[in-house]
Amino acid sequence: MEVTRTIPVKLDVPAERHDDLHRTIKQFNHACNYTVQHGRNEEGYLILNKSTIHDHVYYDLRDETDLPANLCIRAYSKAVEAMKSTVADWKKGNSRPLPRFDKPSAVYDKRTLTINDRSATLSTINGRVAVDYVLGDYQQSYLDDNDYEKRMGTLHYREDEDAFYLHIVIKKEVEARNGDRVLGVDLNLKNVAVTSTGSFYDGGELLWGQNHYFRVRRSLQHKGTRSAKQVLRRLSGRETRFVLNRLHTISRRIVEEADAHDCSYIAVEELTHIRERMDNRDDQVKRQLHNWAFRELQEMLAYKAAEYGIRVEEIPPAYTSQSCSKCGHQSNTNRNSETGWFECTECGYEADGDYNAAKNIGRKLLTLPEGKRPSGLGDSHLALKSGTLNGNGEYTAYDASSSDQESTDKPTTSVVGR
Ligand SMILES: [Zn+2]
Repeated sequence: MEVTRTIPVKLDVPAERHDDLHRTIKQFNHACNYTVQHGRNEEGYLILNKSTIHDHVYYDLRDETDLPANLCIRAYSKAVEAMKSTVADWKKGNSRPLPRFDKPSAVYDKRTLTINDRSATLSTINGRVAVDYVLGDYQQSYLDDNDYEKRMGTLHYREDEDAFYLHIVIKKEVEARNGDRVLGVDLNLKNVAVTSTGSFYDGGELLWGQNHYFRVRRSLQHKGTRSAKQVLRRLSGRETRFVLNRLHTISRRIVEEADAHDCSYIAVEELTHIRERMDNRDDQVKRQLHNWAFRELQEMLAYKAAEYGIRVEEIPPAYTSQSCSKCGHQSNTNRNSETGWFECTECGYEADGDYNAAKNIGRKLLTLPEGKRPSGLGDSHLALKSGTLNGNGEYTAYDASSSDQESTDKPTTSVVGR
């Protein structure tokens, strides 16, 4: 399986070359917009094929702009990708305007960008610009990892910092694990994540709109003055990084947990379901924050797992919080919606509701019908704290001397991500 990551690296650009980068970005966007306007066939339809669009706009772009050849190619390619997704949306019946490019960024490839360990050179409208990286440990560890191939990147200008960034795309091939063990993970609002092995990853108040930044943001939003807007913009960058940091920690710990239990798969619910479980009374700002955070968390989980050769599988949601992970009995009275505690009305099994759901999510992957299950997932097992369960609900202890599931299969690890 291929692991692809994007590593944002701040650039140290000589002052006298700032303008060359700014103008390059501006012309790049112009080339994208030109492609959308003029990339039509004789009947006036958008051209969605890259070699056809080349014949239509490439020489115009070379005339219209000072961009080197490969930046023109990247520009029309970017425009075509955006047009494709717009047209796909139209076909679904959604109205949406034609794509418009005004964000300060430009796409580079191996002909326009040379990536070294600590520096890079970029083609511009005025020759090559040499830049140094301003690196943190995180970026450095990826750039120094020679297993990763580093060829593409996008140049970004961040207005709030008045700084250029290069988002370097790195790739490597990782052999997928072929084991049969699954870690079930429940993502929710109370605990951010709970695993079938009994770990609780608590995002606490931070993530869910109770935190300091959020409160300041809300109070500033009500003011709406010019200076409040400026503070708001600065704050939202800091808040975003703060939340992302927490999500990075949680996703890393989940993957480490899967690795420690020898799992080849991590099962999560489809994201739409997590969204539905959110409280409709939540205000819009909070909902947006939640939606965004869960999407980020799932993406992080997928790429961090991929680095270990672990696959993340989404399972169709249904009754994972209402069903008993021990006897399978499903009832909406099983779970106390106030306390979140689960108590099976059939067999009496008791557990934290999210922990019970995590086990159901994992088991669901084991019991998906043939054809829907990931290929290679044969006679599979769900990883629990003290042992594993197979699709028929048969338990095997990790350690043969402690085979009593009742006394050992209790969540005791509580990891608070503060
Ligand atoms: Zn039960």
